[in-house]
Amino acid sequence: MKMNEYIDRAEQVILHTYNRFPVVMEKGEGVYLYDVTGKKYLDFGSGIGVFALGYNHPGYNEALKDQIDKIIHTSNLYYNVPAIEAAEKIVKATGMSRVFFTNSGTEAVEGAIKAARKYAYLKDGGHDHEIIAMNHSFHGRSYGALSVTGNPKYQEAFKPLIGNIRFADFNDIDSVRAQINHKTCAVILEPVQGEGGVYPGTEDFLKALRALCDEKDILLIFDEIQCGMGRTGYLFASQKFGIVPDIMTSAKALGCGVPVGAFMLNEKTAAASLKAGDHGTTYGGNPFATAAVSRVFDIFEKEHVTEHVREISGYFEETLDHIARKYDFISERRGSGLMQGLAVEGIPVGSIVSKALEEGLVILSAGANTIRLLPPLVIEKEHIDEFSEKLQKVLDTFSAE
Ligand SMILES: *Cc1c(COP(=O)(O)O)cnc(C)c1O
Repeated sequence: MKMNEYIDRAEQVILHTYNRFPVVMEKGEGVYLYDVTGKKYLDFGSGIGVFALGYNHPGYNEALKDQIDKIIHTSNLYYNVPAIEAAEKIVKATGMSRVFFTNSGTEAVEGAIKAARKYAYLKDGGHDHEIIAMNHSFHGRSYGALSVTGNPKYQEAFKPLIGNIRFADFNDIDSVRAQINHKTCAVILEPVQGEGGVYPGTEDFLKALRALCDEKDILLIFDEIQCGMGRTGYLFASQKFGIVPDIMTSAKALGCGVPVGAFMLNEKTAAASLKAGDHGTTYGGNPFATAAVSRVFDIFEKEHVTEHVREISGYFEETLDHIARKYDFISERRGSGLMQGLAVEGIPVGSIVSKALEEGLVILSAGANTIRLLPPLVIEKEHIDEFSEKLQKVLDTFSAE
């Protein structure tokens, strides 16, 4: 069947909530994707930061096949072995104390918000607690997560959102301090902002925020859904600066393709927030999803994935810096590890992303004017060279105009 016929069929039955590129993807191998016509793409988007290990990683696929033959789902009325093992690995990796598995990132954020409000409620019995979130943040599309997403465009048609949310400026501690009052129960932020345009949090800001939250007994929530799981060269981005939040969220590369997320609470928060009956999910933590999580942690350790990211990202940054210097319409490179952005001026980013796709290169956009790059964490220098060649070919067509 022709690609256009699939697309026509899709538009008849799938709700049009995305302006999709006219490509039907079929399979993947390593760092490459193939569409239904057999055309090959170098994938520097990883399914939006999900396929960190590349497609068809043998150890990963085997873990899933084995688990399918044992059991895919039970329910949260019972314990299951993969969930226990996965949670142990997450606790060890994060320094958090308890894990709750979800099916997506947005659900992890919902849980984090509920835990923070319950913690504050148990302290003073109030129902008016406030949460501070950041401008240009992204935390998901369900109501709680949308309410703390600092992007009016996503919120406008869906009001009223959940109340008592205030917004501050990222990387500006005075702006956060100005929003704090006796009702503030939590601050939520991404240590590296992703969708908002790839903005890394500075060490000074994140450390000052940790100190401020400690001083006022405000819970610090790090949304590591995009920047976590090795993306920045550390298993979690906040670990680069040795900062530990009270609540952390993860998803995207947590299961490297299986839909799974989690929120984690430290000892203090776990001891005094969500209790039996306060929160639940049918699928969350099922053995299929958690077998994936468990194997992902094993592979990260065995293949030294975070070390590899730290080694290779210097070369990636040099390559991008070269590109940023070469083209007038690229004003800067921003990012951390293998989470990088190129700020574009005067050209719609969508047209660059679209042209790249024609050229057999998958890249992403972020915010209004940023090319976002989230390659699989297993890329090698040769892939970066191939990426560079392809992207320059694309960018040349714009500088000629
Ligand atoms: C993608 C993302 C989410 C939402 O995750 P979904 O799985 O799409 O619900 C939340 N926070 C951040 C930082 C993200 O990048």
